Amino acid sequence: MLEAGQFKILVDCGLDYEKDRNVQTNENFPFDPATIDVVILTHAHIDHSGNLPTLVRLGFEGQILCTPPTADLSELLLLDSVSIFMRKALSGRKNRKGKFNTGAQPLYLQKHVIDTVERFVTIGFNRPFRINGDIELTFIPVGHLLGAAAVILKVNDNGTEKSIAFTGDIGRKNYPVLDDPQELPPVDYLVIESTYGGRLHTHDKTVEQTLIETIEKACIKEQGRLIIPAVIGIFA
Ligand SMILES: [Zn+2]
Repeated sequence: MLEAGQFKILVDCGLDYEKDRNVQTNENFPFDPATIDVVILTHAHIDHSGNLPTLVRLGFEGQILCTPPTADLSELLLLDSVSIFMRKALSGRKNRKGKFNTGAQPLYLQKHVIDTVERFVTIGFNRPFRINGDIELTFIPVGHLLGAAAVILKVNDNGTEKSIAFTGDIGRKNYPVLDDPQELPPVDYLVIESTYGGRLHTHDKTVEQTLIETIEKACIKEQGRLIIPAVIGIFA
């Protein structure tokens, strides 16, 4: 959360699946959702978007700013989250011989997803957008996923302009369909993802080669089944 004077901006609002054995932990925001003025969503992956319907359910009433593909993909992924919650809730009930397991209660329902997607306001890449008189936002492509963006905020702080960038997740170059990550302009503050820490991506094999080897191992050598999430991956 970024506070600019009285104005409160939340950047991303992800779901923590580690905590979903007790959904209530995802509801424990360290602030009152009703006090947030605007949400900026960097991309659709559930660990960045998946708790937005909880935020809305608990009182957030502002706009959610994101790129057009992020809005489209988030709607699909959030609805998918609801199906996962419902399946878990049903199996929780069955395991307890008709007794409702409160730990398996859905975190949010389809109506909360609909309330959430109605708050999306879409902004294209590299188009400066004024959030209010003192704050301007620009989305910059970062690869990673369709619509994924870093956000640059220029904030007028009592006459001095300060800039801060939130990278979201950063992708790699030369991926089909996706824009290459674009260089960020110089900023005063940078909040950067560190999912991969100090590890390096392997460059010795192409994605196609890795896929061929996986198919050969799973389907030919081990005579097993290979399940490919062909539409979109949910995590990371
Ligand atoms: Zn991601």
